[in-house]
Amino acid sequence: MAEEEAPTTSKAARPAKRFEIKKWNAVATWTWDIAVDNCAICRNNIMEQCIECQASQGQGPGGECTTAWGICNHAFHFHCISRWLKTRNVCPLDNTPWDYQRMGS
Ligand SMILES: [Zn+2]
Ligand SMILES: [Zn+2]
Ligand SMILES: [Zn+2]
Repeated sequence: MAEEEAPTTSKAARPAKRFEIKKWNAVATWTWDIAVDNCAICRNNIMEQCIECQASQGQGPGGECTTAWGICNHAFHFHCISRWLKTRNVCPLDNTPWDYQRMGS
């Protein structure tokens, strides 16, 4: 009369919890955080022509469609801001008195 006792396994096998750092996908996707990329007046990209020049295909307001930077560091198309300044002599974005800082992109 042999009573077989199942051996109690109190020792639980520990799973090896080893941290494995997976290959870090350091994809440097640098998006240039340009403060101004769109003209706030016509919503066209500042590096492209203003909407007027684009619509009229060269028959626009005349002159080079350049970028105008204000002292507040906001940039607009020169055509757009000069049109805007006829109404109000302030920056359309922050309402500070507008003054040209530089032209060109
Ligand atoms: Zn514009
Ligand atoms: Zn233009
Ligand atoms: Zn501004």
